[in-house]
Amino acid sequence: MEPIQYRPACDAKASPREDRIHLACLACGRTEEFASPLFAVLKVEIARQSGYDVHAVRLEVSGHCRACRMRPSATQH
Ligand SMILES: [Zn+2]
Repeated sequence: MEPIQYRPACDAKASPREDRIHLACLACGRTEEFASPLFAVLKVEIARQSGYDVHAVRLEVSGHCRACRMRPSATQH
């Protein structure tokens, strides 16, 4: 029986950009990422309430992008 292999070094080198919100436009399909210092606050709160050692936070948001919102008919489906 081999010991379980952990790979903490791999995760430690991960990009700090791992914390992000993924925005997806329902009209044109455009996607973009949004970063916020609020992720740090959110991670502390999640860790405090759940007991998790939180490494990354990812959120997905769908809606209509700025360009599509400017078009009168974009949000009328
Ligand atoms: Zn759009």
